[in-house]
Amino acid sequence: MSSDALPVHHPPRERRNVDSLLIVNTGDGKGKSTAAFGTLMRSVARGWPVCVVQFMKSGQWRVGEAEVARRLGVTWLTHGDGFTWESDDLDRSAGIAREAWRIASQVLASGEYRLVILDEVTYPMNYGWVDTAAVIEALRSRFATTNVICTGRNAPAELVDLADTVTEMRNVKHAYQTGVRARRGIDF
Ligand code: ATP
Ligand code: MG
Repeated sequence: MSSDALPVHHPPRERRNVDSLLIVNTGDGKGKSTAAFGTLMRSVARGWPVCVVQFMKSGQWRVGEAEVARRLGVTWLTHGDGFTWESDDLDRSAGIAREAWRIASQVLASGEYRLVILDEVTYPMNYGWVDTAAVIEALRSRFATTNVICTGRNAPAELVDLADTVTEMRNVKHAYQTGVRARRGIDF
């Protein structure tokens, strides 16, 4: 076996005990949300209360995972189910994201959940729909034992700085680029 194949041994560190982790799944490749939902299964397996907040208007896209998660007892808050945006505001997406953030900030502070997934939260931050500094502060001051996973492309530097674990999914190729549309059972 070449030394390349050996596992990487990090320099020894003093063991740290932390109450919870902040994880960020970012990058332009596929897998940010699905990795978060994989972790959701682990949390559910341990009997943890789990909450998912989806920040972007998703239409019928997410019904697959939302339905299964709800069957598993997960609180799944998404536009049209968890919260609604009743307004003729042209900028519906911004309104939905702001309302999602209002609810998410309460969820983070409440201590009700041991895992909270903020799916696609980077988009409203990058678009200026929610205040990045406010999000960072809410994450920093969250209930101590609430683990959080944030997903979405272009995670802001402040979010990367605060996080314990950050993974960047890199797009090597995606079927979409050769004209294959999103698939039920694979993409949603
Ligand atoms: P997934 O939900 O499959 O884990 P994701 O969360 O990493 O994907 P998003 O940016 O949230 O990616 O996009 C969601 C949808 O876009 C999914 O259907 C996914 O397959 C698709 N997608 C993800 N990355 C790419 C890409 N590089 N090119 C085209 N489509 C993509
Ligand atoms: Mg996603």
